[in-house]
Amino acid sequence: MNTGPKLVVIDTGLGAATYEQSKGALGQFHTNLAASGIDSKAVDTVIISHFHGDHINGLIGADNKPAFPNAEIMVPAVEWKYWMDDANMSSAPEGLVKGTHANSRRVFGALGNKVTQYEAGKEIAPGITAVATPGHTPGHTSYLISSGPATVMAQVDVTAGPALLFARNPEYQPFFDMDGPQAVATRRKLYDMAAAEKMIIQGFHFPFPAHGYIEKDGTGYRLIPLAWNPTI
Ligand SMILES: [Zn+2]
Repeated sequence: MNTGPKLVVIDTGLGAATYEQSKGALGQFHTNLAASGIDSKAVDTVIISHFHGDHINGLIGADNKPAFPNAEIMVPAVEWKYWMDDANMSSAPEGLVKGTHANSRRVFGALGNKVTQYEAGKEIAPGITAVATPGHTPGHTSYLISSGPATVMAQVDVTAGPALLFARNPEYQPFFDMDGPQAVATRRKLYDMAAAEKMIIQGFHFPFPAHGYIEKDGTGYRLIPLAWNPTI
């Protein structure tokens, strides 16, 4: 986002190391950023929503150096406290949860742990307000982005994976939602609001163009994708 005074990135994808390993199939964020004519050195602020690898690994390059060398890196305070806690790490179940503890230390360690922690419920960059949406992870955060009268809710992983399936069946609890019941409650709360306010929402794992409206449909919701118009 170009807010005027600041160039802001929200989440960074799987990163350059995965891009190389997968021969370009994954981790395309940085090549897409460059193709859009944006120099990662010009980015002022990187906002991280939560600490899953597909959101933080792109903070560093394949050489383990900062991929946004001039940016302030902002992370949810709740997320930092949870994942960087040694007791939480030693008691974490094997697999995604323990792996995310280790990966968070690897990625942020490469940045010298130089981050700014932010609280939800506040405007953390011009026009960008952090909204607590826990359940997927303890400190998972979404963003209300405003420009003049227009707003977009960047929901991040309120529905992760096949978003259409989880919008239709909000009570489904995929294994990557750490607290299933809390994730369900968060989905319902955010989607009830998005439906009532006819708000455009943007989803990290939505199919292209990744923006749409939410409508209530039976006991679940329906995602109505925005028509893609390359001229706007
Ligand atoms: Zn995630």
